[in-house]
Amino acid sequence: MVCEKCKEEMNWSIEGATQGWRCPVCGWNIITTYIDEIGAYVNSIWQIVKRKIIYR
Ligand SMILES: [Zn+2]
Repeated sequence: MVCEKCKEEMNWSIEGATQGWRCPVCGWNIITTYIDEIGAYVNSIWQIVKRKIIYR
């Protein structure tokens, strides 16, 4: 899996029920969960968190 932003190799990480790809360079990540509804919710939260991290 390669980062969409900077084309670096991404790391696979698992935190509880959340698992996904994370870029070690720019922090871009793709999060998936076992339950789609929760996955969509977590993903929307991640979009907000990610923006705060990037633009802080
Ligand atoms: Zn990246």
